[in-house]
Amino acid sequence: MSAAAKHSQAMFFRARAGEKVTNPVLQRALKKAKPLFVGKRAKGVAALAEDGLDFEALRSTAENIRNRVLADLDVWLEIFEERATARGAEVLWARDGEEASRLVVEIAQRHGVTKATKSKSMLSEEAHLNAALEAAGVRPVETDLGEYIVQLAGEAPSHIIAPAVHKTIEEIEALFAKEHGRPAVPRTSDDIPAMTREAREVLRQHFLTAEMGITGANFLIAETGTAALVTNEGNGRMVTTLPRIHVVVTGIEKILPTLEDFATLMRVLPRSATGQSISNYVSLLTGTRAPAETEGPEKTIFILVDNGRAKLLGSAYQDMLRCIRCGACMNHCPVYFSLGGHAYGWVYPGPMGSVLTPLYTGIENALDLPHASTGCNQCGSVCPVRIPLPKLMHRLREDQLELGLRPQRERWAFRLWGWLARQPRLYRWLVRRAAGYLRWLADDSGRIRILGLAPGWTVGRDLPAPAGKTFHELYAARKRH
Ligand code: SF4
Repeated sequence: MSAAAKHSQAMFFRARAGEKVTNPVLQRALKKAKPLFVGKRAKGVAALAEDGLDFEALRSTAENIRNRVLADLDVWLEIFEERATARGAEVLWARDGEEASRLVVEIAQRHGVTKATKSKSMLSEEAHLNAALEAAGVRPVETDLGEYIVQLAGEAPSHIIAPAVHKTIEEIEALFAKEHGRPAVPRTSDDIPAMTREAREVLRQHFLTAEMGITGANFLIAETGTAALVTNEGNGRMVTTLPRIHVVVTGIEKILPTLEDFATLMRVLPRSATGQSISNYVSLLTGTRAPAETEGPEKTIFILVDNGRAKLLGSAYQDMLRCIRCGACMNHCPVYFSLGGHAYGWVYPGPMGSVLTPLYTGIENALDLPHASTGCNQCGSVCPVRIPLPKLMHRLREDQLELGLRPQRERWAFRLWGWLARQPRLYRWLVRRAAGYLRWLADDSGRIRILGLAPGWTVGRDLPAPAGKTFHELYAARKRH
């Protein structure tokens, strides 16, 4: 079992989903957040159209750029290594998260680091980097506000761009009061700036005393050997300019060939994530501090991590490597917004996680995730790089079946259904009977409250009873007239 699989809780999706859907505090937090995400993206896309730009055309260009990278990933990575090294950075390679963590710990120990400030990096979550640093006596301090909150709470992020979206203001106030050593006070959303200021004051001391800064990278630009960092808080710049060592831990698929490609991707990334035309801070980090410069690290080290990515190249799942981690798929997913991110059990939640988790941690370690979909294709229709997420989830389900990973009962049921579908007279007779039975189960309002054979479907919602005739009956009647 891989290290990622060992840490994956994705096998417990069903049990966790049951818990999350009945958690009133979580449901309150999610209910507030969803319209914000969806509304902001819709406004961002509409504003682009007002400027005479076509978002759909930009999506196609972004998709093509990402496909061009994946077609020659090894070449672009070599170019990146050469250009980054020429600008004084060091480039290291890690096969998996464990190796990435080991490399970061070795760098910290070699340079006598006792504290490291961190800007948001999902790869460091894959690598369980904080635990590795703590075990080696290095204190990791998350500085993105959402990440800071979940670190204080001892939790994992529940969303890739809004890590603490599952928390209510009351929960955050209780946490700050406890961790910052002060009495709790009643809070409303008007107090958010004050609470942010409080976190900033605590974090400032860490920025000034950390010897090492650790970040991910939204993109790596091959032609210049640059890491592009896109954030909405100033923390990314503090982490990359104040400490003497800057370590970038990111996946090998994050490469873009040119700065022009980066400019194109930046037209779709912030709009898809938060609806902004551009994020508050866009930093292009190249090399180390030059002798005449007053800020920047003395040492920049890139750790480029595979952790299951390379094996997807040339496979039926290659499209997934186009992902630019915008979060739009989860923001529009009815399943994600019923459960929150923690139900998914690993680093990536929502539709992208339902594909990535089985691919990175092993298909047998996340059996329920490719089924955590209503098949509505909201995710596929908003993805800025046109990843066909529902298609990939279907493909994973097929693989589960081919590998004999589905329960015997389910396989028999599908075999029986397949046989019945080839007996049209019997099939029609049974469908008529089933429709009649469902109508009989319904109450006066025409809804089925509890369905005996599949109670899971009606535990949290009503099922409308079939109305009128079956499709075959209607079709036959139409042909007769
Ligand atoms: S799969 Fe698409 S929508 Fe989802 S995070 Fe990745 S790029 Fe964004």
